[in-house]
Amino acid sequence: MSPDLSSTLDRLGDEIAELAAHLDAATARLLDLIREFDARGGWNTGFLSCAAWLTWRVGLDPGAARERVRVARALGTLPRLAQALARGELSYAKVRALTRVATPETEERLLAVGRAGTAAHVERIVRGWRRVDRLAEARETARRHTSRALHVYQDEDGMMIVRGRVAPEVGALLVQALAAARETLYERARATDASAGPADVSAETPTLAQQQADALGLLAETALHHGIDPGAPGERYQVVVHVDAPVLADPEAPGQSVLEDGTHVSSETCQRLACDASRVVMRHTADGRVVEVGARTRTIPPALRRVLHHRDRGCRFPGCGLPFGQGHHIRHWAQGGPTTLSNLALLCRRHHRAVHEEGYQMERQPDGELEFRRPDGRPLPEVPARPHVADDPIHVLRARHEAQGLRIHARTAMPGWLGERLDVGWAIDVLHPLAGNPG
Ligand SMILES: [Zn+2]
Ligand SMILES: [Zn+2]
Repeated sequence: MSPDLSSTLDRLGDEIAELAAHLDAATARLLDLIREFDARGGWNTGFLSCAAWLTWRVGLDPGAARERVRVARALGTLPRLAQALARGELSYAKVRALTRVATPETEERLLAVGRAGTAAHVERIVRGWRRVDRLAEARETARRHTSRALHVYQDEDGMMIVRGRVAPEVGALLVQALAAARETLYERARATDASAGPADVSAETPTLAQQQADALGLLAETALHHGIDPGAPGERYQVVVHVDAPVLADPEAPGQSVLEDGTHVSSETCQRLACDASRVVMRHTADGRVVEVGARTRTIPPALRRVLHHRDRGCRFPGCGLPFGQGHHIRHWAQGGPTTLSNLALLCRRHHRAVHEEGYQMERQPDGELEFRRPDGRPLPEVPARPHVADDPIHVLRARHEAQGLRIHARTAMPGWLGERLDVGWAIDVLHPLAGNPG
């Protein structure tokens, strides 16, 4: 190679390195903005998450968007790594890898790893680091799981003692069941009191602990009586809404909508629940006596639902696309909207709520396209317009960094590595606080 050509290529290489460092510095600023936008909930305007908003507004692919949000959040507690990125000294790829394992305690050491090694070295060290972290976490989870226990034994006076430690989800189930059993016992007691008359007031109201003890008895009895059958999941979580037909058609109409337990729900919520549901129509008299019960029908028949899923593929709300959802009647069936493909659109649960209860509007245009609007009437396009970019964005970027006093040049992000072999095992042993100290 002639010396002339070689120096031209050197300059080209320097320019690449310098511009890359500028872009990394600009990425730090971008991540700052994303962190603030995320923390202040700026994306919560019909989007599922900050990442979903980024995908829609900026055009990042969903994986990259999630990663940006993750790194942005992590850098909020890792000021040294954040600063190194902002000065263009550490590449985004390195920072991204390091934030997967760094904590405020280990940040300094990992920053040194980032400065010394290439992106590939950093990646390998982080992978080894995670293995140590995972082992520690697995040990902790296993320890907690092994510690589950329920002891039932007899006290000296003949009473039984129940003592235990259970997994959080089992505990939640138990608390819920005890509450339901307490409620049933209370109802029973009230019924007996009423029949016994006002003379019997000697019995004191039991304490909460006493009620829990009684409730546990009822739980055991009920479980044995039903052959310990938890039932089908669909039945366990069924929600029953009683709604007056006029309310369903017109939220302003007088009437009521209540859940099975008597909780009132708004007519908007009711319309959403009825949009795609199993429906049993009951007619009753003004005083509540049921005079007629119709057959159970699906609002959207299974065959039509299959076609709907095939056509829409997922939630149609701009920027969402979750691959499953509920069939939404663009004009509600209770208002005379037909259950036909053109009057239906697939929406995920979150966006079904947005349309029914949060004021987002959707309409099908004559050409068949869907048009969404925000609650204030502004359109919500499927693909937002790209912002205007200056003719020479690199010049603008350099000028901005210069104004901030940043000195970025071709060697700003050079690793300290001199070509020696990387011994990952040794590096982790030296750096990781938990390495070499199992248990
Ligand atoms: Zn709906
Ligand atoms: Zn959605």
